[in-house]
Amino acid sequence: MRITIIGAGIIGATVAHELLDQGHDVVLIDPEEPGSGASRGNAGWIAHLDILPLASPKAWHNMPRWMLDPLGPLSIRPAYLPRLAPYLLRFLLASRAGARAAGTQAIIALNGLALPAWERRLAALGLSDHLRRRGLLSVWSRPADFAAAQPVIEAQKALGIAVELFDGAGVRRLEPAFGPVVVGGAWYPAGCHVADPRDLTVAIASAAVQRGATLIRAKVESLDATAEGVRLTLAGVPREAADLVVIAAGAWSRPLASDVGDAVPLDTERGYNITLARGTLGLERPVMFEGEGMVTSPLDSGDRIGGAVEFAGLDAPANMARVDAMLARLRRFLPGFTDGVVGERWMGCRPSIPDSLPVIGRSARHANVIHAFGHGHYGLTQAAATAELVGAMVAGQAAPIDPAPFAVTRF
Ligand SMILES: Cc1cc2nc3c(=O)[nH]c(=O)nc-3n(C[C@H](O)[C@H](O)[C@H](O)COP(=O)(O)OP(=O)(O)OC[C@H]3O[C@@H](n4cnc5c(N)ncnc54)[C@H](O)[C@@H]3O)c2cc1C
Repeated sequence: MRITIIGAGIIGATVAHELLDQGHDVVLIDPEEPGSGASRGNAGWIAHLDILPLASPKAWHNMPRWMLDPLGPLSIRPAYLPRLAPYLLRFLLASRAGARAAGTQAIIALNGLALPAWERRLAALGLSDHLRRRGLLSVWSRPADFAAAQPVIEAQKALGIAVELFDGAGVRRLEPAFGPVVVGGAWYPAGCHVADPRDLTVAIASAAVQRGATLIRAKVESLDATAEGVRLTLAGVPREAADLVVIAAGAWSRPLASDVGDAVPLDTERGYNITLARGTLGLERPVMFEGEGMVTSPLDSGDRIGGAVEFAGLDAPANMARVDAMLARLRRFLPGFTDGVVGERWMGCRPSIPDSLPVIGRSARHANVIHAFGHGHYGLTQAAATAELVGAMVAGQAAPIDPAPFAVTRF
């Protein structure tokens, strides 16, 4: 088949290889260079040990504290609130016990596939050297929050996830850069990250082109699907025709899905970061700062500090004061990190669905359109697993995990 993938982020680029494996004629379309969207500047974590949806009583509990600080871990631009209301309503529904339990099972299944799928794909492409296996460390500065996290840690242990717990002194033995504010930590030795998320995306997209995929630099303006095939209208380029289309345009996928009759509650949680010279922070391992909405990553390309969730839509200008606010929070944890910092600042658009599950599967109305977007905080983690699911759907084979929780029909 001639299969066109819309979007050359980590999802589109990785899906391309599954389809090339099956001998299809693959076209990737993106107006930007591969790895220009959210896949460019993320934290680089393969977060396959995470098991919980974001929607939770804990999120609602933290929300007032976060919202009081306009530069805190979560913010909603007031002008955007009316457009966000349906999303927040769905987020509320997804926080109910039953929905949360089902969402947890779906995340456990998808994240359980995530690392083995990456290992298979990277080995097949000769790119395994992009993986860094230094584990992941979560740290807490509030004793009550550390205590409240214990049931989740117990649930992870019950799933066979190795976790070692430390008090503040134990954390400082692992990572001496931490100051006294750290009161506890959880060390996940099986955690891993990538050398640099943009480099990985570019390498995977380049490998797809080397394997015969065609890369077209254009924006897909609209889709028209019929039983005979799918026609795409491109900006400034004549129409493209395909037997099958995969929509992998990240946070920009909503209007494309709408063209084929699928209404998806996709929005964007904008995230921010800064990348400093390698070694600036003095942290050997990736660290999650629990309750701060912030992580650090010792990437090969530099020490990255990132996080925050900002609901402001796709087009509002970035507010880089958020980066300074994160740096201020980080200085509480790392007393040695005091200097004025110059580094690359970045804002990216996470493609987010209120139930924290991506949309993976055929369009409800057109079997020749497959959705592969909405991975929120986990697009890098879940890209290879998503590609295996899409590959199985295209080949008509049994999927490696139950794809039902990710179907577009759930909305
Ligand atoms: C601050 C931050 C930190 C993060 N950290 C992590 C992490 O540590 N681990 C993790 O797993 N995830 C992380 N994420 C999430 C992750 O970055 C995303 O889930 C992932 O990059 C989404 O990939 P994608 O390919 O779907 O989207 P993108 O990378 O955004 O790619 C979409 C592509 O589609 C193209 N496009 C858009 N519209 C059109 C159109 N009409 N026609 C053609 N092309 C189009 C865009 O140009 C873009 O290149 C983080 C995100 C942020 C913002």
